[in-house]
Amino acid sequence: MVTMYSVNCMMCGRSSGQVRSGVFYRAASAPPLENRGGRTRCGFCRGNLYLEPDDSIVATLPPQELVQRERRLAS
Ligand SMILES: [Zn+2]
Repeated sequence: MVTMYSVNCMMCGRSSGQVRSGVFYRAASAPPLENRGGRTRCGFCRGNLYLEPDDSIVATLPPQELVQRERRLAS
């Protein structure tokens, strides 16, 4: 399973990067994240960040269910 999240800002809605398997990768277009009092903040506006499951990579792979259905039809 691919554990990938996009790191989005609640305030400005911009994405600062992605978290893949627990490691943060900053987007090339995003400023470094701010760290304030132990909390990570948006580099654009210092708003609160939240993680959103990012299935952009998963979506390019055939869903397992679909593959199984095709196998059933082929047999
Ligand atoms: Zn922001």
